[in-house]
Amino acid sequence: MTRVYAVERPWQREERYYSFGRYLRERFQFKVHKIPIHAGFTCPNRDGYKGSGGCTFCANESFSPNARGTSTPPIKEQIRSGKEFLRSRYDAEKFIVYFQAFSNTYADIQTLKSRYDEAMGDEDVIGLSIGTRPDCVSDDVLELINSYTGTHHVWIEYGLQSIHDRTLRRINRCHTYQEFEDAVYRTRTLGGINVCAHVILGLPGEDHSDMMATARKVSVLGIEGIKLHHLYVARDTVLEKEYRLGKVKTMETEEYVSIASDFLENLSPDITVQRLVGDTRGDSLVSPIWPASKAEVIRAITGELRCRGSFQGAQNVP
Ligand code: SF4
Repeated sequence: MTRVYAVERPWQREERYYSFGRYLRERFQFKVHKIPIHAGFTCPNRDGYKGSGGCTFCANESFSPNARGTSTPPIKEQIRSGKEFLRSRYDAEKFIVYFQAFSNTYADIQTLKSRYDEAMGDEDVIGLSIGTRPDCVSDDVLELINSYTGTHHVWIEYGLQSIHDRTLRRINRCHTYQEFEDAVYRTRTLGGINVCAHVILGLPGEDHSDMMATARKVSVLGIEGIKLHHLYVARDTVLEKEYRLGKVKTMETEEYVSIASDFLENLSPDITVQRLVGDTRGDSLVSPIWPASKAEVIRAITGELRCRGSFQGAQNVP
């Protein structure tokens, strides 16, 4: 097959994909890291408002730091300990507070404002990133988030997972692709908020062409970022039951490396990749348990692209 190469960019011969680390280095003259926090919100797909049971893969408590345990530490305390850890480990200088656990726009405006303000009040915090569902953002909420863009670097992270409604039904997302597109459109209209989409590769019922269709479709929406991970089965989830019944399969490392590389080739080179793989080990993980660490899987993906003489966007022809 003849490959069509996009205009050359600095990362095409090095990382082979537009990493978030590079994106931050391009924008800031100091080291910026994200501090994940749990701000005490829940989710409309878990409390019965949208549906029951939540997404089949959802084990938010297991995978969100600070969402583990019975009580949530105050936001200021989470930021203080996050800063301390990231300073000692990575020499981080400034921080983006990432409202990670559950749906961080699921409350009334006053509650949202007070929690965002609490995070933005720290002098070392230069940015805000808010993880939520695409069906959980009213125009008022978007206006509130947009109001921080004059002083802070602002992201909203929408859980999408797949562009295919049949898959969204299969994993009990309780929203449609159209709702995602509508949320992205309304967010972009305001002008200041960067948008990141979360996508899972290897969802039940999806084949290679379904996943590549997701890469191509999100590429034309004008979003700025993407987070990818492989499907993993966590303990005490609906997905675990399906997995034990043989209804769901997970990927081996080699398969994920190949599919993630294909996905990157089909993704716009303008979209920064904030995550390339999920956790590969941990007490809550049922499958897959890979011998390779996250860093090794990322190296394998960049190695695969190098081997192909390829990079993010190589197959993404406008
Ligand atoms: S939207 Fe997020 S928090 Fe809510 S059920 Fe799904 S994965 Fe869990």
